[in-house]
Amino acid sequence: MLEKFKKAVPVLEKIEQAGFEAYFVGGSVRDALLHRSIEDVDIATSAFPEEIKQIFPKTIDVGIKHGTVVVIYNGENYEITTFRTDGEYTDYRRPDKVTFIRSLQEDLKRRDFTMNAIAMTKTGELIDPFSGQEDIKIKLIRTVGNAEERFTEDALRIMRAIRFVSQLNFRIEQDTYKAIEKYGELLTNISVERIYAEFQKILVGKSRKQALRLLVEQNLHHYLPKLSGYGQELKQTADIIHLPIWTETEIWAILLILIDKEPVDVFLRAWKTPLRIIKAVKKIYVAYQLRKEQSWTKEMVYYNGYDTCISSEKIYSVLHHLPVQQNVQMVKNIWADLPINSREQLAISGYDLMNWANQKSGPWIKETLEKIEKAIINKEIDNDKSKIKEWLFP
Ligand code: ATP
Ligand code: MG
Repeated sequence: MLEKFKKAVPVLEKIEQAGFEAYFVGGSVRDALLHRSIEDVDIATSAFPEEIKQIFPKTIDVGIKHGTVVVIYNGENYEITTFRTDGEYTDYRRPDKVTFIRSLQEDLKRRDFTMNAIAMTKTGELIDPFSGQEDIKIKLIRTVGNAEERFTEDALRIMRAIRFVSQLNFRIEQDTYKAIEKYGELLTNISVERIYAEFQKILVGKSRKQALRLLVEQNLHHYLPKLSGYGQELKQTADIIHLPIWTETEIWAILLILIDKEPVDVFLRAWKTPLRIIKAVKKIYVAYQLRKEQSWTKEMVYYNGYDTCISSEKIYSVLHHLPVQQNVQMVKNIWADLPINSREQLAISGYDLMNWANQKSGPWIKETLEKIEKAIINKEIDNDKSKIKEWLFP
């Protein structure tokens, strides 16, 4: 048993001593069977949230409504979720109301895929009523129970299936596959935040090429924000990004450059992308447009910044079938050869200018600093206080 599980065994024991059942479940059990590293262990129990709170002195309410309590034990946080069935599904989304139950079997039944419906006892014994281990062995994503029912209950499972293709390099079992195709449209009922969370995992997964191609093959892009009609561009992106050198930000930039019709921020805001990513993609997009006009100059590299230039050169090279490494090295050389890499590295400040000119502050300071900065970048003057003064007041 993995260290992470061993450390949590006392938590299961405590719950059992109080007269309830408790098991490891979900992603951590699946990943352990796949010999993948695991993040947090999730625990499922027959105890109701209030009962868990009586067993452990330190708890945090995170999702009592859904039966989840975080228990702090020996300095670790554990998500403990009461066995439950998901009530009525009326709008193709997970229901707001869930019913707590005492049966593990029933709890496993409401889980999405067979590989995610395996429970493990404190001694490492597996409870696997839907042959999840078998599917893990043959690398297959298969819904628990009738696929069409499971996707109409909660359409997010469609995105989760594709996400697991990307993360695990599994295939999708035939009935599950057909049901995804049939009910893809239901994705329009799911909140963008939840869609983005899965899509983001698709983009950074090891088998993202296969996953993105599958997403298009299954016509799912038509039901994702701003992607309808862009199947070709998505497939092209998929083929480019199979190597692990590409970051999420660069992938969005590639997609937007290929689409070439949607304003970057409108598109990414429709996806509820984090602002930090929107900003970075915009910068890459702008630098890429400059790079299309001409090759890198000292000024271009300085003003656009290192990361942005490297990313846009990677994209430019790959889209124009040029040697990526070699061209990226060119940008790195220009950056390394710059006398300064940012305004802060200037040997003088606005105060120096005011002293030398004996003038008050004003817009002239900014203008003069920019002029000096440019001259230094282009090596017309050294970044040296007295040299700058001489240059300004000959
Ligand atoms: P990850 O490794 O990314 O955390 P995970 O499988 O643990 O993957 P979670 O979202 O953490 O995914 O969910 C934990 C477990 O809850 C899943 O393994 C699955 O059993 C169940 N589950 C999660 N989302 C759904 C859903 N939409 N429908 C049914 N069961 C779900
Ligand atoms: Mg998880």
